[in-house]
Amino acid sequence: MLIIMRVGATQAQIENVVHRIESNGFKAHLSAGDVRSVIGVVGDNPIHKKEQFVRVDGVDRIVPISRPFKLASREFIPADTHIQVNGITIGGGTGVTIIAGPCSVESRAQILEIAHAVKEAGAHVLRGGAFKPRTSPYSFQGMGEKGLELLAEAREETGLPIVTEVMAPEQVPLVSKYADMLQLGARNMQNFNLLHAVGESRHPVLLKRGNASMIDELLMAAEYILSHGNRKVILCERGIRTFETATRNTADINAIPVLKSMTHLPVFLDPSHSTGNWKLVSPIARAGVAAGADGLIVEVHNNPDEALSDGAQSLKPERFAELVRQIQGIAAFMRDNVTPEYLE
Ligand code: PEP
Ligand code: MN
Repeated sequence: MLIIMRVGATQAQIENVVHRIESNGFKAHLSAGDVRSVIGVVGDNPIHKKEQFVRVDGVDRIVPISRPFKLASREFIPADTHIQVNGITIGGGTGVTIIAGPCSVESRAQILEIAHAVKEAGAHVLRGGAFKPRTSPYSFQGMGEKGLELLAEAREETGLPIVTEVMAPEQVPLVSKYADMLQLGARNMQNFNLLHAVGESRHPVLLKRGNASMIDELLMAAEYILSHGNRKVILCERGIRTFETATRNTADINAIPVLKSMTHLPVFLDPSHSTGNWKLVSPIARAGVAAGADGLIVEVHNNPDEALSDGAQSLKPERFAELVRQIQGIAAFMRDNVTPEYLE
């Protein structure tokens, strides 16, 4: 629930309310506005304790929050969250952030060549998997720590921050030693131990939607991370499983404006896993940005035919450079002409 303080409520009255919230075993989240302060109350059904707050000095009214997620919801935190990753700002109104790189780090030459190519094309962050969640145990499983070292070398050479997947809670310290942002993959969206572990990290987290997860479930997964203290969560739509077999997954473009209306967290689209086919990556990336995505994560490979994972959906660097130019155009159009309906 939200406790709306009266206009002109004193600092002492605000502190008193915060103290009462905490002594009831809840957490208080204070937003000090220009006109009045609003205090969010987080915990297990605080609305049941509403009576304890209605008549306290300085309190104007109590507003229940209808959603099961609190810290992730726009009702709770209306303004877009901005997340800093090594000098780059991600989130609503800051432009479209482009993450690009191979599905997997395969060799030193491969990752360095692709890192330079995507940097040149205008990418802001480098991606590359070192620990890979593969459907088959016989498929390439990633280079492990050696892959992380190579990513760090690519960052050193290009200046691009790096994002890479972490698959298990015990890997969080190792992956955090190298990465600027932790990717939590679709298969792990409801791995609650992992959500807890990245929630205790201070690294930004790119949380991918499970391929059979509802939007509410994605937001509840984000709530796990937020409630453990890590407020730097970026959500990523990456395609869901439907009856359609013409594409690897079905890009849920709807999810972008739906999420933007429900949450203040940045919303990204992965057009590569959404489609599974490089020819569909650019159209769906363009659609995602036109739908209001704050960023994209795109697989790029210098030699897709020989890629050890996801070659079929990887763009060659020249094609990626063309996509970046188009995205910049669409992003500028959006910034200058579009007021999002989801905020009405
Ligand atoms: C990936 O980004 O390479 C990946 C495995 O993504 P997802 O978890 O969305 O399948
Ligand atoms: Mn991949």
